[in-house]
Amino acid sequence: MIDHRRLGRELDLFVSDPLAGAGLPIWLPAGAAARHAVEKYVRELERRAGYQHVYSPPLGKRELFALSGHLGYFADEMFPPMRLSADDEFVLRPALCPHHALVYRARGRSYRELPLRVGELGGMYRAERSGVLGGLSRVRAISLNDAHNFCTLEQVGDEVREILRLIREAHAALGVRPAGFRLSLRGPGAKYVGDDASWARAEELLRTALDGVEHEEAPGEAAFYGPKIDIQIVDAAGRESTLSTVQLDFDKPEKFDLSYTDPSGARRRPVLVHRSLVGSMERLFAYLIEVHQGAFPPWYAPVQLLLLPVDAGQADAVARLARRAVDAGLRVEVDAAGSLGARVRDASRRRVPYVGVVGAREAAADAVALRLRDGRALDPMPAADAVGLVGAVVAARSAELLPAG
Ligand SMILES: [Zn+2]
Repeated sequence: MIDHRRLGRELDLFVSDPLAGAGLPIWLPAGAAARHAVEKYVRELERRAGYQHVYSPPLGKRELFALSGHLGYFADEMFPPMRLSADDEFVLRPALCPHHALVYRARGRSYRELPLRVGELGGMYRAERSGVLGGLSRVRAISLNDAHNFCTLEQVGDEVREILRLIREAHAALGVRPAGFRLSLRGPGAKYVGDDASWARAEELLRTALDGVEHEEAPGEAAFYGPKIDIQIVDAAGRESTLSTVQLDFDKPEKFDLSYTDPSGARRRPVLVHRSLVGSMERLFAYLIEVHQGAFPPWYAPVQLLLLPVDAGQADAVARLARRAVDAGLRVEVDAAGSLGARVRDASRRRVPYVGVVGAREAAADAVALRLRDGRALDPMPAADAVGLVGAVVAARSAELLPAG
């Protein structure tokens, strides 16, 4: 398996420039197009599952992160605070939870609103040592697919099971093959917040939600505020890391004094579930680039259809076909320079799933001959049918290159 850094360079997906800083990669147009398709899919998956999306800034006042406990328990992994004046210090956030607690707190909440699922694909920062940084897998600026689900204690079991279902659905669409599920528990030597009874209850709730799911238990791998379920992946070099996660937290609702009104009118404390379906865009793509060897499923391929006129005589016909495909929502490019053989080889090097060749006969008939990434060549077909074929595969988010049936 080839390292994602090499493929990232060959396919123009991202660049790491020392002038920008280590661990601060820049997504190039091809990488950004693929990421955009994945972000759009995840947002829609969450919308259908009842999530409400917000935007919040990637930095905030020092006091916010003192209250959340991050400055006490997590300062080693944060960038140092930025001081504007003696009483105005800001930090780059290491997590989105403090802002989402403020979303919850923006007004009074009733039990009828729970579970309240606050989602955001947001930026956060980790002061990783430069020695451990590489490509997209370990970075200092992280774009996390994150959400915080506020619910009652009674709702936690169903909520966690539903999150695990969404994780499986997203993995299937993206082509993620998890290496294993891990129940991360408290261990000796680390710092934790919260009392023993809450921890024991939280660990038991997660264990129950994992009933029937093969998993290992990992003492010492819990977050400082609670136990979690981690879904592990393995990279090309055999290194294991966490992609998806579900974490229980009895502590932040306490710290931020979050409450809801129960049916009798009494104020109650919600439980907070932190979850990420697909992790950070950086780690996800480091993995996807390697597991697919750059040949992404058509629905998030940077260019889905590359059109090749055989010679200049087909320029108008190809421009019309490109317009039609773009209007149908596809990512399309035209490559007219150089020999046809060289252009076909370049399309293959770029792992473009569909190449449409238009010669004089196809141009006259408003047709195109599709070649698939796996080497198959289809008979010439009407341009509308070709756009329909690619559109159907993309809409189904299939990993196959031809529609089912
Ligand atoms: Zn969180």
